[in-house]
Amino acid sequence: MKYKLRPSGSSRWLACPGSLVLEDTVPQEKRNDMVAAYTGTAAHQILEWCVKGQHRADKYLGTEVEVFDEDQQEFPFSAKVDEKMVAAVNFFLDEVGEPDSVTRGTVYSEIEMEHSELPTLRGTADYFRFDEEEGHGVLADLKNGTSIVQVKNRAGEINTQLLSYACLLFDKFEKLETLTIAIIQPNGKTKLKTRSTGINREVAEIHLDRVKSAAKIADEATEETLEAITSEGSHCFWCRAKGICPTKGKASVLRDFG
Ligand code: SF4
Repeated sequence: MKYKLRPSGSSRWLACPGSLVLEDTVPQEKRNDMVAAYTGTAAHQILEWCVKGQHRADKYLGTEVEVFDEDQQEFPFSAKVDEKMVAAVNFFLDEVGEPDSVTRGTVYSEIEMEHSELPTLRGTADYFRFDEEEGHGVLADLKNGTSIVQVKNRAGEINTQLLSYACLLFDKFEKLETLTIAIIQPNGKTKLKTRSTGINREVAEIHLDRVKSAAKIADEATEETLEAITSEGSHCFWCRAKGICPTKGKASVLRDFG
């Protein structure tokens, strides 16, 4: 099995572990409906350059940026940095601020991580600031789109993508005890463009158990069990296996013909 537990797909594979198995059989393709996602990747590239170089995004206005998809690095996409992208990245930089006497710590940008206990869980966090003395960190995730992505929903459930990054950070940094997790969404259709909550190691452990059980289900999957371990929902939208999924096909037939 060659699947990866990417935090960005966590809401899908936690709800439908079978998608990990099925997606492995479907080649990645460049999709025209993913231009917004590719543009977001370009914004992340600019953010990385700005954080590492400690400068503002204005420096890149008009630059052509070539980016690749996170998983297979197969399809280059070229985006021109425009005023909107510059403003979005600058907004993020202003929100996280410079580490100073108030916001102390070491800053990591695009930090690549793989979980020591569960190596299939891997991902790259946009921005992480760690104050080792305090045992406290700040994880900030840039969302370039307009549709609101919550850190915590009304039921109090924390965003699983950020929780998955948190698991990786707690694993990597032994002295990390508490973590502020934030979504910074400069183009979001809301006044509250930065939303955050606090978690500790225990919360991340509980999430890690969920991740482990999804991985176990996928690892033990057979052709016979595949249908039973797939589950349809809004998470199907970005699933690469939509075209071959037995559950999705059945759900559409039921919807169309009762
Ligand atoms: S289409 Fe939906 S139900 Fe089918 S594998 Fe993908 S996420 Fe699961």
